[in-house]
Amino acid sequence: MTGADSHIVIIGAGQAGLQAAETLRSEAFEGRITLLGAEPYAPYQRPPLSKAWLTDNLDADQLALRDHSVLERKQIDLWTSASVSAIDVRSQSVLLHDGRALTYTGLVLATGATPRQLPQARDAGDLVCTLRSRADSDAIAQGLRSCVRRELPLVVVGGGFIGLEVAASARKLGIAVTILEAAPRLLERVLSQDLSDWYARLHADRGTTLIFGARIAEIRKTSNHVAEVEFVDGHSIVAGLVVVGIGVTANDQLARDAGIACEAGIIVDACGRTSVPNIVAAGDCTVRRLSDGTMLRLESVQNAVEQGRSAAHALLGVDKPSLGAPWFWSDQYDMKLQIAGLSRGADTHVLRGDMESHSFSIYHFRETRLVAVDSINAARDHMIARDLIGRQISPTAQQAGDTAFNLAKLRTAQA
Ligand SMILES: Cc1cc2nc3c(=O)[nH]c(=O)nc-3n(C[C@H](O)[C@H](O)[C@H](O)COP(=O)(O)OP(=O)(O)OC[C@H]3O[C@@H](n4cnc5c(N)ncnc54)[C@H](O)[C@@H]3O)c2cc1C
Repeated sequence: MTGADSHIVIIGAGQAGLQAAETLRSEAFEGRITLLGAEPYAPYQRPPLSKAWLTDNLDADQLALRDHSVLERKQIDLWTSASVSAIDVRSQSVLLHDGRALTYTGLVLATGATPRQLPQARDAGDLVCTLRSRADSDAIAQGLRSCVRRELPLVVVGGGFIGLEVAASARKLGIAVTILEAAPRLLERVLSQDLSDWYARLHADRGTTLIFGARIAEIRKTSNHVAEVEFVDGHSIVAGLVVVGIGVTANDQLARDAGIACEAGIIVDACGRTSVPNIVAAGDCTVRRLSDGTMLRLESVQNAVEQGRSAAHALLGVDKPSLGAPWFWSDQYDMKLQIAGLSRGADTHVLRGDMESHSFSIYHFRETRLVAVDSINAARDHMIARDLIGRQISPTAQQAGDTAFNLAKLRTAQA
């Protein structure tokens, strides 16, 4: 698998695919590496697409993950606008949409995810957007410019991270924003009630209207190019643009068709191995079975990078599972949320600091074990939390809530 006659093909030129390619080279893999991306661009960062890319007139170089020269130097052969339509595991080959075929000795699946569409918005055309790619973000930026010009509001469907970040970006541009959330609170699946409420206040204070329990009947395009959002109770609101952020589905169809085990994502072990030898997967397209039998799918840069790394090692025959705590960030206005660990199943939530000061953390415990920490503008808390969770060191709830207690000390105490 490592010799000069080997050929590793990577499907998906995003964060995870690029990381897998670079790891192969840094581990002295001598064979060919072909990185196939469906989009017309070299690998780029997605996080700015809902943030600075919408507001700050960045240029494409600031979005790029690597300069072209880096890929050339590392002899990573990037094919853009190269979409794979099928994998044949018996002949070890992949077929591209344009009819080209490539054989591989090892295959990395890093196909990412696709935003869920809102069925009620089928007939609203270009006035309703989802957000995953640079092209999506460019379309939203154009829609926001039109909102400014025509003094029309933006409606965001879905109070998750993407929707809230787009809402904050639109407010920065002076656009009136309404967020429609079907659940009774924001970010219900990922944040505790306290932090959800804090986010709702943050957005309301910045002038956004929040509607919870929203039931949309239909979104249609009117003759004067305005989106009309009609609710099931019959009332309606208008918008210059509707951005839908209601989650994603893993891009696992290629893998399914090839007979690779999937369950709402490509099933991988801790090293990124799939059910088929010599095929690994990484990033948003994957799911992992946890020790309690539940499936975990993460959507974060950190996960894409770490799984990309582990998957490359696995193809080289080396077990390098990612052992640290998962982490994630979100920027809204001047607030940076950093999440370390997984708070699901937590039964005790302890505040450290003062929520009104806009710099605090919430520590989540399952019984007495620290399982996650959400920090707002508290980078030091976040770094310590990642370390503590990764090393399975738990402060007591009292220590966590006491800002005079130095949590970093626990690391040395148990080193
Ligand atoms: C708007 C936005 C904001 C985000 N903000 C944050 C943030 O603040 N913090 C954070 O941690 N995470 C954030 N994320 C999540 C993070 O960007 C993703 O988790 C990460 O990009 C996943 O990397 P990936 O390589 O798995 O998938 P992707 O980066 O999506 O790459 C997958 C690539 O595969 C390509 N592909 C798919 N099918 C095929 C095929 N058949 N043939 C060829 N190519 C194919 C796709 O076109 C795509 O380019 C954000 C995501 C978005 C969309």
